Amino acid sequence: MTKVVVIGGGLSGLSAAYILEQEAQKAGLEIDVTVLEKKDRIGGKVWSIQEEGYTCEWGPNGFLDSKPWTLELCDNLGIRDQLVRSDDNARKRFIYSEGELHRMAENGPAFLKSKLISWPGKMRLAAELVIPKRTDGADETLADFGRRRLGSEALDKLIAPMVSGIFAGDPETMSLRSCFKRIYELEQEYGGLIKALIKLAKKKKREIKEGKVVASAAGPGGVLTSFYNGIQELTDGIAERIDGTIQKTAPVEKITKKDDGFELTLADGSTVDAEVVISATPSHAATGMVEGLDAELSKVLADIPYAPINVVCFGYERDRVAHNLDGFGYLIPKREGRSTLGTLWDSSIFPNRAPEGHVMLRSMMGGAVRPELVGIPEEEIVERVKLDLRTIMGVDADPSFLRVFPQLRAIPQYTVGHSKRVEAVEAASKRHPGLFYTGNAFYGVGLNDCVNASNQTVAKVINHLKK
Ligand SMILES: Cc1cc2nc3c(=O)[nH]c(=O)nc-3n(C[C@H](O)[C@H](O)[C@H](O)COP(=O)(O)OP(=O)(O)OC[C@H]3O[C@@H](n4cnc5c(N)ncnc54)[C@H](O)[C@@H]3O)c2cc1C
Repeated sequence: MTKVVVIGGGLSGLSAAYILEQEAQKAGLEIDVTVLEKKDRIGGKVWSIQEEGYTCEWGPNGFLDSKPWTLELCDNLGIRDQLVRSDDNARKRFIYSEGELHRMAENGPAFLKSKLISWPGKMRLAAELVIPKRTDGADETLADFGRRRLGSEALDKLIAPMVSGIFAGDPETMSLRSCFKRIYELEQEYGGLIKALIKLAKKKKREIKEGKVVASAAGPGGVLTSFYNGIQELTDGIAERIDGTIQKTAPVEKITKKDDGFELTLADGSTVDAEVVISATPSHAATGMVEGLDAELSKVLADIPYAPINVVCFGYERDRVAHNLDGFGYLIPKREGRSTLGTLWDSSIFPNRAPEGHVMLRSMMGGAVRPELVGIPEEEIVERVKLDLRTIMGVDADPSFLRVFPQLRAIPQYTVGHSKRVEAVEAASKRHPGLFYTGNAFYGVGLNDCVNASNQTVAKVINHLKK
């Protein structure tokens, strides 16, 4: 019986533990898995807080069904029938610019009609068709890529809000290749994004005609998917189905190498032995654990920066919010100078997010572009959110329900040089056979990415166990 310890009970750690148990059984390997979680609750960033009839998502509110990994996991767990898909209205996403909410265009004609981008900006965007691809293989920032291919206006009003919506990140520092690998590849494969869109659309049309794929109304982004009681049903569902032990309030402080594996030292001084260790904590939390084991690894882990964020949930009686809430919500470009990064109309996206006759609005504040706004007094956070809601949506009323969740290190930032840091972590892993790294610090921050990284990590662990 091989003893495996997973450090961290977020989605990455829990999914790695569960998938490993399944795969080991299939491979005829006997393992005993223990998950060690620092806090007194599991789930990490996944936390659906239910109070007064509201469901406040502390972190993620769902995953996109355009990638298969979380759906497959739900199938394996037997909870796929419990999923709820976001309302079709959730496809309506808005950008706040120059005093108005503009619906994000989903097709060419809608884009031409939209007033979000000026005519010179649209013409600059169209010029993308003739801009040659970059061939020096540089790890380019998202901002440099945006300015080079699409122009400054598209960078400010389209790319920057998207980066803020996914990473709470700053496009001036984030790496195109690490954050949006597919976009980097499209430029390399097709010579440009518009050329890629045209060719891929033609290919899809052909495949639909030949019956190879089914036409989908969901669009390439997919449908945001969650559970009736919030996304935490996913992590709770995994935890319930793990055969091994989940130990809460068990912060690991140190990993020491032994002849037959590793010894983990917990904050209370107790130790746990393991032949295989899967570290699934945020990279900043993993740094100290390996200081004595491998200083170089410890430094690389420390070099991955995190952006802070305030998540603010406001609940209102529906008739106190005159604004139409038909859609997903909106993002705000930095140049608008608002405090918030955007607001999600959570109760319009999924059922059971607010009591009957009420609505839930969830605003984000801070991120890599305004980190100073995280850590300010709660009253100031609330006032700033209220001011933005008043200015943008005309909401004058005080919320009848309010929760503020400041998160000092919320989302890892894949800045330029990230791929080299990931390579260094992988190389270090090889110096210490039996020690594996997974989690959102390396291969993608979406819930789908975390589950996919767990699949990949488990495959490596199984290979290691078979040797
Ligand atoms: C505000 C916000 C909104 C988001 N929205 C979305 C969204 O809508 N859709 C989406 O796909 N993704 C979203 N994300 C991203 C997604 O939630 C995360 O990337 C994902 O949940 C990370 O999971 P993880 O297990 O890798 O890390 P975490 O959830 O951070 O889990 C790590 C775990 O390790 C534990 N730990 C730390 N130190 C130790 C230690 N020393 N010993 C033991 N355990 C330790 C922590 O307590 C934690 O439980 C969002 C993130 C945030 C912050």
